[in-house]
Amino acid sequence: MKILITGGGGFIGSHLSELLLAQDHEVFILEPGGTAKVRHLIGHPRFRVVRDSVMNVEILDSLVAQVEIVFHLAAVVGVEHYVGDPYEVLNVNVNGTQNVLKAAFKYGRRVVFSSTSEVYGRNPKLPWSEDDDRVLGSTRIDRWCYSTSKAVGEHFCFAYRKLGLPVTIVRFFNIYGPRLDKLDVGRIITIFMGQLLRGEPLTVIGDGKQTRCFTYVTDAVTATANAGLRPETDGAIFNIGTDVETSILDLAKLMIEISGSSSTIKFVRQEEVYGSSYEDIGRRVPDARRMHERLGIGELVPLREGLAKTIEWFRSEA
Ligand code: UDP
Repeated sequence: MKILITGGGGFIGSHLSELLLAQDHEVFILEPGGTAKVRHLIGHPRFRVVRDSVMNVEILDSLVAQVEIVFHLAAVVGVEHYVGDPYEVLNVNVNGTQNVLKAAFKYGRRVVFSSTSEVYGRNPKLPWSEDDDRVLGSTRIDRWCYSTSKAVGEHFCFAYRKLGLPVTIVRFFNIYGPRLDKLDVGRIITIFMGQLLRGEPLTVIGDGKQTRCFTYVTDAVTATANAGLRPETDGAIFNIGTDVETSILDLAKLMIEISGSSSTIKFVRQEEVYGSSYEDIGRRVPDARRMHERLGIGELVPLREGLAKTIEWFRSEA
């Protein structure tokens, strides 16, 4: 099958490309950033990179016309962007998504939209099942712009579906693995990783009791691919993640233990890292039953195993 992945040169996109190529599909990626994460795939006879963005509607149109499924992964992601450049987050995530859906609708192509656990905000009722409420803070807190941008994307998906477009939504929960981000930026695992590899203290915000459900990338892309390749998922939303909860303090301890690093733990105030335009989420846990039952996902990679592979990869790159 011919498949387009927008943002295919990103972390999840690069792993999804790898999986779909291994399944004998032909993969086009639309990627405005660097291609370092897919450099091992360049030259593959069924892989093509187009260095452009979902904001370029002509290129997008010509690519969508050639494929059967579109995995729309292109987005501006990462807390540093939510608080540093909310305009870009909203513009790409809302208008870019609209461009993708418009083109897909024109040619009747199936879309998988990559959304996020952030859409639930800080809903205190856990675990979150797919139809649960979104509980967010004030628009003065930039952090919520990402959640809102993805929720608008989801609404656009359902609006287009009412017009006849087949769409499936996947909501990712703290996906990690090789190629996640550059060291020291992006998400907690790459921030800790940079500190770990230099033997510096790991900066745990607050008391470190806040939790996340860290999900290994190969599990996430298998679920995503299946969401696209199984037409019966049309109209569904899927939480993509493990329901095993880990506190940030335990994550720090585990990373130190696995790596054998001499790093210690340093507790820091949230404002020191993100300023005042940020609000942390205390716990984040998916109800993952639908993913297991309808996307054919069995046991997930345990955190210890996934972290060991991730640490090994970052070490080999350093
Ligand atoms: N965090 C931390 N130390 C840091 C950066 C982040 O303890 O140097 C915490 C942050 O407060 C949050 C968790 O790590 O509770 C996960 O943050 P991340 O940026 O990976 O993304 P989130 O899951 O909040 O979207």
